Amino acid sequence: MAAAVIAARFGLRVTVLDAGERVGGQYYRRPAPGLGAERPEALHHDWAAFAAREAAFRAHEAAGRITYLPAHHVWTVVREGSATDGYWALRAVAGADETAAAVRARAVLLATGAYERQLPFPGWTLPGVVGAGGAQAMLKSGLVLPGRRVVVAGSGPLLLAVAGSLAAAGARVPAVVEAAAYTGYVGRAPDLLRNPGKLAEGAVFGGALLRHGIRLLTRHAVVEAHGTDRVEAVTVARLDRDWRPLPGTARTIPCDALAVGHGLVPQLELATGLGCATRPGADGTVALEVDARQRTSVPGIWAAGETGGVGGARLALVEGEIAAHAIAGTSAPAALLRLRRRLRAFADAMAAAHRPGSGWREWLRDDTEVCRCEEVPACRIREAVTALGARDARTVKLLTRAGMGWCQGRMCGPAVADLVGDAPVADRRPLSCPVPLRHLAELPSVEG
Ligand SMILES: Cc1cc2nc3c(=O)[nH]c(=O)nc-3n(C[C@H](O)[C@H](O)[C@H](O)COP(=O)(O)OP(=O)(O)OC[C@H]3O[C@@H](n4cnc5c(N)ncnc54)[C@H](O)[C@@H]3O)c2cc1C
Repeated sequence: MAAAVIAARFGLRVTVLDAGERVGGQYYRRPAPGLGAERPEALHHDWAAFAAREAAFRAHEAAGRITYLPAHHVWTVVREGSATDGYWALRAVAGADETAAAVRARAVLLATGAYERQLPFPGWTLPGVVGAGGAQAMLKSGLVLPGRRVVVAGSGPLLLAVAGSLAAAGARVPAVVEAAAYTGYVGRAPDLLRNPGKLAEGAVFGGALLRHGIRLLTRHAVVEAHGTDRVEAVTVARLDRDWRPLPGTARTIPCDALAVGHGLVPQLELATGLGCATRPGADGTVALEVDARQRTSVPGIWAAGETGGVGGARLALVEGEIAAHAIAGTSAPAALLRLRRRLRAFADAMAAAHRPGSGWREWLRDDTEVCRCEEVPACRIREAVTALGARDARTVKLLTRAGMGWCQGRMCGPAVADLVGDAPVADRRPLSCPVPLRHLAELPSVEG
């Protein structure tokens, strides 16, 4: 959205293909209009800035400089045309009736965001256990709570935002259970002090926890969820530095929902399908390699936001604007470039502080499902490694089907890779989402 506004201001014709139904991405999710929310801004802390940006976006749309295509899920980006007159072709599955759509472009900016990292534990597939970001999304776009008494757990600053929103909307949040220790930030004090905006955001979240009487348990994890038809309680244990549960520290917290997530994973299918170079991040995920102008290693393909490493909404906006300047062939203002450097340094500090320790593997029992689409338990993954000689996540997938289901490894991929001891790599998949076969059948055939 930020990139589209700047690019349109420079006179470029912009098409925004968005798998979502309304502009704004993850951070600016809003209630669907039919829900009649009276104060859609209530769950956002910088609504005015968003409203101004959306107004600019809509003005360019009305003037024909921006075309917004909601509910368009791009499944591939390919180079077409001649060597001298080539262009990018983006193919998408559009709307509830899954029609085929295609757009041509001279330049492509990938801002496909991220999805949540899940680390399995016994009981994590019970109804009532939802992603932490999922809980926030349910609330922001559907105005529903996952339960009345919700434990928020996992790792990363999103937990604080989620707990604050759930409590503000009327849920009881008995505890925020954070696996990392916030002391991980101490060694990065200069990067923190250079980002007063981020510190202020942290203070807002901390204030919300105090106001709602929410306990913050650091270096603790939910190691089991209990219940028959849905979650009724969770077991929380204290962790050592490597996230290994300490014997004798387990206690039970009653709840009717658990919102859990261990940070975010950049969503890179389109980029890796194009062959864009990647780099390992401090949080154990893989992100795109981008230069100072947000160019990827593939000429004509830019990237911004979480695709270049998880870093928060402000950084995503700044990077989008820098990319748009570059695509329009102008230099981004020096202040914008400085801000990006500061925010990236903060993001790296945050990533390192919340990197999962290897001891999370001890949360698993043999029968704990790791891949929930294909129902693959932990013992089969361990067997693939110890008895069948798998040395990487791809071989485990071929031997066990872990990662072959509907979600295509978005749920279990990070956990499987870690169980194998594989270095993080971005999966290369030719289709970024499920595509009806008729779309493939209708593709123009290659001549000669
Ligand atoms: C629960 C939660 C709370 C958060 N709280 C904060 C906070 O308090 N402060 C903060 O700074 N950050 C917060 N964040 C992070 C913030 O949301 C992100 O940093 C920001 O949204 C990143 O912007 P982005 O443009 O990179 O990706 P997103 O905002 O995720 O946007 C990606 C867009 O790409 C679309 N898309 C993805 N794949 C495709 C495809 N193949 N075809 C078409 N469209 C596609 C998606 O539909 C989406 O609209 C939070 C995130 C979550 C999940």
